[in-house]
Amino acid sequence: MSNNYSNLMRIIILVPIILFTLIILNGQSGKNKHAISNSNQNKVLKKVKRTESEWKRILSPEEYKILREKGTERAFTGKYDGHFEDGVYTCAGCGGTLFNSETKYRSGCGWPAFYDAIEESVEETEDNSLGMNRIEITCSKCDSHLGHVFNDGPDPTGLRYCINSVSMDFKPKDNKK
Ligand code: FE
Repeated sequence: MSNNYSNLMRIIILVPIILFTLIILNGQSGKNKHAISNSNQNKVLKKVKRTESEWKRILSPEEYKILREKGTERAFTGKYDGHFEDGVYTCAGCGGTLFNSETKYRSGCGWPAFYDAIEESVEETEDNSLGMNRIEITCSKCDSHLGHVFNDGPDPTGLRYCINSVSMDFKPKDNKK
């Protein structure tokens, strides 16, 4: 009898605690979902828009030609072609992060090459200019031209992001924050 009584007491105490915990957890997960959708919205809102004259003022003539007029630097001339330090490559137009140094490899193509881009940092557009069928890569934040992506890269993605050095800046690992 006393065993039954103590079991009953346990249930009376535990059930409200479990229910309360479930309610709290449910509220938390709802909050998280909200935070994620908010941060996505912020990303869309944070798109960098500048007029052509603003771009011309901010960028050097060489940067303007490549980033805003979809130019290409001469092969084997870019400052990051043979650059292999630890850090993050950022967009020369807006400072947004683009590529981690861990994904950079020696492709021998004459431009900095990466097998992957930082999530949501770049956008792809079909480019049929110059009689070629290529996929252009632009910065998802400021729409500046970065380069092209090809299907002849190494594992694990098989991709080669072929990017102009002029389109990027580099932040060494220690200054990443
Ligand atoms: Fe950018």
